[in-house]
Amino acid sequence: MIKRVGFIGLGNMGGPMCSHLVEAGFEVTAFDLNSDALDRVVAGGARPGASAAECARDAGALITMLPAPPQVESVWLGFGDEGGVIAALAPGAVAIDMSTSSVAVGSRVVAAARERGVDVLDAPVAGQSIGAQAGTLAIYVGGDSDVFERARPLFLAMGDPERIFHLGGNGAGYTVKLLLNLMWFIESVAVGEVLTVGVRAGVSLEKLHAALVGSPANSVFLERDVRMVLDDGDYDEAFPMRLVTKDLGLAVDLAHEAGVPVELTALVEQIHRRVRNLYGDDAGEISAVRLYEDLAGVRLRLG
Ligand code: NAD
Repeated sequence: MIKRVGFIGLGNMGGPMCSHLVEAGFEVTAFDLNSDALDRVVAGGARPGASAAECARDAGALITMLPAPPQVESVWLGFGDEGGVIAALAPGAVAIDMSTSSVAVGSRVVAAARERGVDVLDAPVAGQSIGAQAGTLAIYVGGDSDVFERARPLFLAMGDPERIFHLGGNGAGYTVKLLLNLMWFIESVAVGEVLTVGVRAGVSLEKLHAALVGSPANSVFLERDVRMVLDDGDYDEAFPMRLVTKDLGLAVDLAHEAGVPVELTALVEQIHRRVRNLYGDDAGEISAVRLYEDLAGVRLRLG
């Protein structure tokens, strides 16, 4: 049974996820380049690691929650003369990357891990920082079934038991996560466009929104998520545009590697890149709606 856990990457998501593991009774050694982020989890009972490699030593499982594939690759496999954390793990340990990353980097980690007798899971998540804080994340896991079962207690400490999905071999978790984000970001463009046209065409936003929610065109984004904008003018900075465009770039790469032409995905990616250029790296993830508002000179607000 896994008892000692290393955790690297303690940002909006990783910080609260790490704290849930501590609360569940795991002995956690944590590390982040940002000392404030590290201090927060240490105050909650995690042991501070002096380096990423120190989190790996004696760990039954090592978890990363990092921004993007370049950080995932450099932490696991090293950069220049600096070795990666794979080399510091004992044979039989489980390496778990929970970042939204790529199958390509994941497979290089698997190859290096195999040489050391280390098992690997990709286990990206959905549910935003609110879900990370509440311990109710959805978790999308790729890897061998027996390794998934060994790691399940860790996932139960961070996620919703009904939404911990074992999806197939290594890479399946990354793939599904990128696809669900892609659908959501397609919908954010579609809903922004449709609501703006409707309002400019003279229909009341309240009546248009209620009619669409009651129609076959309804979606979770339309019914729930866009309400942050419509009710409060909140474009949700908890997930910034720099990560949105990272995920959409990875989705385009995924489609390319799968050999599928994806005109819609490519167009939607470009719209979100334009949004990031206009409103900045830290603008909220629903800022595509703001683009349509600005183009049409309206504000979509209920009440
Ligand atoms: P974040 O930027 O808040 O946190 C990332 C952390 O990693 C930072 O604290 C940073 O200092 C640390 N870090 C970066 N490079 C490092 C290194 N080499 N060694 C040690 N620490 C390092 O990002 P986040 O919002 O927590 O997102 C993390 C991952 O989760 C991303 O892949 C993101 O796409 C994904 N994700 C985020 C959300 C969300 O709502 N924020 C939801 C689902 C998935």
